[in-house]
Amino acid sequence: GCELFMASISRSAARKLSLEADLNRALDRGELRLHYQPRLATQDLQVETVEALLRWQHPQRGMVPPDEFIPLAEQSGLIVGIGDWVLAEACAQAARWRAARVGWKVAVNVSGVQFRDGTLATRVSRALAAAGIEASSLELEFTEGALIENSSRVTQAVSALKELGVNIALDDFGTGYSSLSYLRRFPIDTLKIDRMFVRDINATSGGQAPLVDAIMAMARSLSLTTVAEGVETDLQWHFLRARGASQVQGFLFSRPLPAEELALWHSQWIHADAGRITGAA
Ligand code: C2E
Ligand code: MG
Ligand code: MG
Repeated sequence: GCELFMASISRSAARKLSLEADLNRALDRGELRLHYQPRLATQDLQVETVEALLRWQHPQRGMVPPDEFIPLAEQSGLIVGIGDWVLAEACAQAARWRAARVGWKVAVNVSGVQFRDGTLATRVSRALAAAGIEASSLELEFTEGALIENSSRVTQAVSALKELGVNIALDDFGTGYSSLSYLRRFPIDTLKIDRMFVRDINATSGGQAPLVDAIMAMARSLSLTTVAEGVETDLQWHFLRARGASQVQGFLFSRPLPAEELALWHSQWIHADAGRITGAA
């Protein structure tokens, strides 16, 4: 026999293994945090919803990005416990905002793995009850990948969530299998247009983006709320406003921030920056 050894593969496999072992303890050690990124109404640039994004502050490696550790958490099944923690924490934060008379909804990303045992709706309603908030304060973001399993279990789970009164968003729309049948099969409220399409709106394309136009037209005829992700430039924001996107989200407005920093950002935003950006339009 003959075996091929590549040091780089072995290094990345070793990193994966050691990260997975550390992830196992990250929750108990309090190394996970939520950052929050605003989704603003296109009409007046007021915050409507805030998306919770998971962060892992690793004691030795520093900040590990979710794109690296969430796939590990999914493979190992740890995502179920982590997902429960995210839900509880995000709902508790929504309750704090409510107590402070801030009416922001909170959006939580949910992995397909969290569907598998059929208890997601129960877990979500438990998190809502523990925090004492209404289901209408919560939106769940699923990717197309989470819905691809064409099982009655997934359909039932989404319907049960919808019955609770939770909003359902399809995240990264257009990057996965993009089967239009999802839009028929699932009671989706919101389409999040992936930032790949938003990136197409740039000066070199003459500020054109036919796919964004097409997605917007489809969403409008289905009465879906649209959120454009990854808005980084004035050109993109002006284009999206002209096309009637319901909400915008991106670094042009704010990066994901810890809750306390988001409050500081917001007080500046309402006093100065929102006016500057809308005024410049
Ligand atoms: P996502 O849900 O599509 O989140 C949007 C990602 O785009 C975030 O990356 C955000 O920081 C980034 N982003 C926002 N605005 C801009 C922009 O203007 N430009 C650019 N270049 N990027 C922008 P992040 O926080 O690294 O999260 C990556 C992905 O990890 C998320 O994509 C989501 O799929 C997943 N994720 C994050 N938190 C959770 C969680 O609690 N549970 C699960 N299951 N997945 C999560
Ligand atoms: Mg998301
Ligand atoms: Mg997305």
